[in-house]
Amino acid sequence: MTATHEVFNQPAPLVNVNLFDGNRALQTALAFNAPGLDTAPLSALGERVGSADMQTHARLANVFTPQLKSHDRFGRRVDQVEFHPSYHALMTEATRAGLHGTPFGEVEQATGHAHLSRAAGFMLFTELEPSVLCPISMTYAVTPALQDNAAIYRDWASQLTSRAYDPTSTLWKDKPGVTMGMGMTEKQGGSDVRANTTQAVLDGEDNWGQRFRVTGHKWFFSAPMCDAFLILAQTPSGLSCLFLPRVLPDGSLNQLFIQRLKDKLGNKGNASSEVEFVGATAWLVGEEGRGVPQILAMGTMTRLDCALGTAGLMRHALSLALNHTAQRQAFGKALIDQPLMKNVLADLALESEAATALALRLARTFDRPGDEHERVMQRLLTPVAKFWICKRGSHFAQEAMECLGGNGYVEEGGEGVMARIYREMPLNSIWEGAGNIMALDLLRALRKANAAAALAHELAPARGMHPALDVLADTLPIRVEQMASEMEARRLAQDVAVAVQAALLAQTAPAAVFGAFCESRLAGHWGHSFGSLGAGTGFDAIIARAQPR
Ligand SMILES: Cc1cc2nc3c(=O)[nH]c(=O)nc-3n(C[C@H](O)[C@H](O)[C@H](O)COP(=O)(O)OP(=O)(O)OC[C@H]3O[C@@H](n4cnc5c(N)ncnc54)[C@H](O)[C@@H]3O)c2cc1C
Repeated sequence: MTATHEVFNQPAPLVNVNLFDGNRALQTALAFNAPGLDTAPLSALGERVGSADMQTHARLANVFTPQLKSHDRFGRRVDQVEFHPSYHALMTEATRAGLHGTPFGEVEQATGHAHLSRAAGFMLFTELEPSVLCPISMTYAVTPALQDNAAIYRDWASQLTSRAYDPTSTLWKDKPGVTMGMGMTEKQGGSDVRANTTQAVLDGEDNWGQRFRVTGHKWFFSAPMCDAFLILAQTPSGLSCLFLPRVLPDGSLNQLFIQRLKDKLGNKGNASSEVEFVGATAWLVGEEGRGVPQILAMGTMTRLDCALGTAGLMRHALSLALNHTAQRQAFGKALIDQPLMKNVLADLALESEAATALALRLARTFDRPGDEHERVMQRLLTPVAKFWICKRGSHFAQEAMECLGGNGYVEEGGEGVMARIYREMPLNSIWEGAGNIMALDLLRALRKANAAAALAHELAPARGMHPALDVLADTLPIRVEQMASEMEARRLAQDVAVAVQAALLAQTAPAAVFGAFCESRLAGHWGHSFGSLGAGTGFDAIIARAQPR
């Protein structure tokens, strides 16, 4: 209020930066997984999502959170969620970038890199705003499951793959684009969906196949304004997957009632709801009684997005930490030049690059469905990447936040983004299968033929490049062959993750990055917190590579 002091030694925020051009780890991973990929569209997206005006939208969508309008003022149920215009601006941008169902379109499929390109775009967009990516991710993920009802997929495919966003609750065929969600979790069981009690009773048959009336509830039902959902419900044959549109083909609203919105730790821009179905209309997708494997086709892809999303959040947090420490002076020099801060920043940079490498390696498998090695690696790496990358996320965000000191903990404006990242981090670890569920899923994956051989093949190019990696490459396939017990599942998932990360870095990263990663994560020259790399580490080279500008 009065001129008692001048504000100085406070950093300029990181805005109007091209998030793709400054991300060398991402560029390297793309060049490795898809040599010759045209990255110009990603650079254009990086420019857009790094812009100050899009960052303002991200802030506003998180400050002015979604509101449930269950009834109109005359008492009629409307079941609408109202969003700030900035939410819609973000959704428009994400669909325009083709981050939802677009990779399944004919043009994109013909490139041979549709899923990998989209994965890189998804990571870049996460640095702008992760919560709108919930409906975007679900719309991406529905296709493999939905294709098992060919009639519905034929009717909905063009809207699912189009680059248009239309938030209105109107009939799908009158809209240029649609979004989809999913409903599995009920009060009495989330991980164990076999406990679902929601009932579906056969109601007849029409051109979308067997039609059911659904009665029950879903305890977590994110993005309830989506145009349709894949849900699980019990039919006489057991748990089945059903397609439930919000607006029925005759134009009336389906019997889906939003009870309330969840008051969440983070992910504030996205509405997550509790719903009830009172004789709602839905159509069977896939085989009756085979709902779990049916919907898992969707879960595989949303789990990929959890790994990609956390890798994107890590990159964002790292960039903010680097931006801050380069400008902030303490004890006579920039923080980034203080030896112990160098250790913290370099350690975070290693983790971020390893997460990027693993997440994009997994994404590549989705572009090569006919390749047997890629198929086995997809089954193996989906639970591994979801488990390990997401498990590291919260710890990573806390350490990056600490680089900003007190400002890191403050929500407001500019650098307050760090608090948003921190609150978002645990979510990717919980939804779509929490940590234990992922580790146990790895054990199931190992029962499939060829897991040990595929892992050995994956690690082979890095043989002889670091003794600690050689030890893991010798022993891991044997542990995989012998099958770990449930008690050991987390440790096995961690070891497979770091081994594959190291093998990828061996092939893509500079020697300083690969060497420090192996020394710390594999050889044990590391403490229990970030910032405990050995003194001989190439700190300056690692930090220079990670700089966002
Ligand atoms: C913000 C948010 C949005 C969500 N949106 C949706 C949505 O749109 N649709 C939807 O269907 N769901 C949604 N979910 C639900 C989410 O997928 C579940 O919360 C999650 O799968 C865990 O289920 P649960 O909450 O019932 O926990 P539980 O199943 O009770 O699990 C609790 C803990 O026990 C562990 N555990 C479970 N079984 C075992 C075992 N056999 N051995 C060892 N450990 C075990 C789990 O790993 C977990 O840590 C959302 C969740 C959140 C937080």
